[in-house]
Formats: sequence, C-alpha cells, structure tokens
Amino acid sequence: MQPPDAGHRVPLYGLTRSELTELFQRWGLAQAHAGRLWNYLYLELAPTFDAMPELPDRVRARLAAETELLPLPVAQATDSSDGFTRKYLLTLADQKQIETVLMRFTGRVTACLSSQVGCAMGCVFCATGQMGYTRHLTPAEVVAQAVHVARALRSSASSQSQGVPSAGTRLRNVVLMGMGEPLHNYDAVLHAVDILRDPGGLALAGDRITLSTVGVVPGILRLAAERRSVNLAVSLHAATQPERMALVPVARTWPLDQLMAACRTYSEQTGRRIFYEWTLIEGQNDSPEQARTVGRLLRGMAAQVNLIPLNPTGGFAGIPTRPEAARIFQRILFEEFELPSTIRQRRGIDIAAGCGQLATADKSVES
Ligand code: SF4
Repeated sequence: MQPPDAGHRVPLYGLTRSELTELFQRWGLAQAHAGRLWNYLYLELAPTFDAMPELPDRVRARLAAETELLPLPVAQATDSSDGFTRKYLLTLADQKQIETVLMRFTGRVTACLSSQVGCAMGCVFCATGQMGYTRHLTPAEVVAQAVHVARALRSSASSQSQGVPSAGTRLRNVVLMGMGEPLHNYDAVLHAVDILRDPGGLALAGDRITLSTVGVVPGILRLAAERRSVNLAVSLHAATQPERMALVPVARTWPLDQLMAACRTYSEQTGRRIFYEWTLIEGQNDSPEQARTVGRLLRGMAAQVNLIPLNPTGGFAGIPTRPEAARIFQRILFEEFELPSTIRQRRGIDIAAGCGQLATADKSVES
C-alpha cells in the first residue's frame, strides 16, 4: 500500500540535488534558488518555508503550493534513564506512525531510521514483526527522519549544560534498523541513501550508513552488483536452517545456504565485511555449541558479529541471555575462530528501544 495522494505535491526531501535543480528548471526559476533551498533543507534544517527568508516571496509561494516538507510531528518522545537514547514516535501524513531513535554512544551519534510502516518479515521476537506490514516508506519519509534527528541534535546542544551526555551535535551515523526490512523497500531506501550522502547536504559517509537485512537474498545480490557504498548488516540469529526458520520465517524463502552464498558474493564484489547480528535469547541460541556453529559458518569470511541481548516484547516469551553467557559466546567466537564481535550495549531498554516496541505499546500518544 502506498501513502495517500498528498495532492500531487512534490516531497522535497525525496529529491536529490540534481532532481531539485531539474524541478526549478521546469518551473523556469533561477538555479541559485534551488541551491539556496537545498542549503535551507540540509544545512540550516529549516522546518518551514517561512524560515527561508532569502528565497523570494514568489518562490516560497510556489513551494508552499506545490511541494511539501513532511514535518513528521512527534507523537511521543521518550528518553532512556541513562540519557543516551531518545526514541521518537513520528506521525506520517496519513497518520501512520513510525519509530526513529537517536543514540549517543561513546564518541558516536547515530540515528536509527525506519524503512516501512510495520514489517512483512515476521521475526518472532520483534515487536514490528508482530504488527505485520502496512506500507513502504517513501524516500522523503526516510530522509525526513534523518533531518528530524539532525534538528534534534542541533537544538539539544544547549542541554549539554544540563547534564545530558553528549557525543556531538552533528549526525554522523545512520542505521536502517528501525521498523521494516530495508531491502524489501530497496529502491526507496537506496534513493534516500543517495540524498543522505550528498556531500553538500547531510554529508553522511557511505561507511557510516548501515542497512540491516534479515536475509533478503535478491537485495543483497543487487547491493553487490551495484557496488553500493554502504555497510551491510545481516540478522542471522541462528546458524542452522531449522533453528533459523524457527526465529526468522523469511528463512523458508531464502534458506541459510543461499543467504551465505549471497553474503560471500557481496563481500567478494564489494570488498566489504558484513556485520552479522545475533539476538541473544537465553536457552534458545546462546549455548557454547551454538557459538561454535556460528564460528564454523563464518570462519574465513570478512565478518564481524554483533551480539545483542534480546529486547523483550509482549508477543514473545524469550528473555535476554545473561551477561556471563554472552561473554562466553563472544570468547568462543574469538579464541576458536578468530571472529571479532561486540556485545551491544542495551541502551534504551527502559524505553522499549527495540524496533516497533513504542508503536505497539502506545496507540494513543501525546507530544
Ligand atoms: S527484526 Fe527487522 S526484519 Fe524482522 S520483523 Fe522486525 S523489523 Fe522486520
């Protein structure tokens, strides 16, 4: 399902700089105005056309009549108790809601963006998977989330003096790990990536944008063939086909052997290592033997494993692995298979910062 017709208004955040220039050419407007508008959108992060005073009145009037800025009103914003994570529930033009998360880890500011309303992949431990799929996001809706976070960072600069931990006020990292499967919405997501990367705009480097897939093999192969300059994270969660099918239904469509073949192709063609995500669920996929199965699967590959203790959700009975078991898992990967790994800090757990948890927890929200 596509978003409802917005009166044929052009969503400005969905245009690359050259597309914006072409629009102004079609309108018979000076190119300088297009450049000034671009700067207002991505350097000054202007929230309205009224906040673009250097554009002539007639240009602003036409923009207001024929384009849209996608304001994404905040339905709810929640801070984790440690102050490192802020989660936004944002409202789209059709009143659907998505989640966007601002994370401030040591030395890094990262925006976690959604790519769909809901998700069709149905991972059993995931709140978004439990919601089901509603629709793809447009490129503008993906970019507008990043702009929202960039604005929030800028306006929070003053809060540093109020004791909130800060790792900078400029957005430097984006992960597509929010609601949705980005490779299920390939064209829109990669168009958004092109806009995010524009060096005269938000200027995100390709190695600071990460697409996270649950294993959509055609999308991985397309990324490889197009040699896209982005990081790839693959949500593995299990290293045998039966175990993976129990957690990730999409493994029935793209079995583990096909997924690993696609990952090898990706690394060969791009020269990039892949980040393998492993949600640690106590008693289900966290045993030493399962660590060895992962090790054998990934041995010799350009790989890093991210171990993520489960974020509990209402629709799944599993609980997170205990810290000591996570450390043993990590030690086996490194000492027996020379596989680097990290244990992801569970920042924001108290604000339900696993994807989809805010949207499912609260349907009647306030700003
Ligand atoms: S984990 Fe990702 S791919 Fe799986 S259901 Fe959730 S949002 Fe979709």
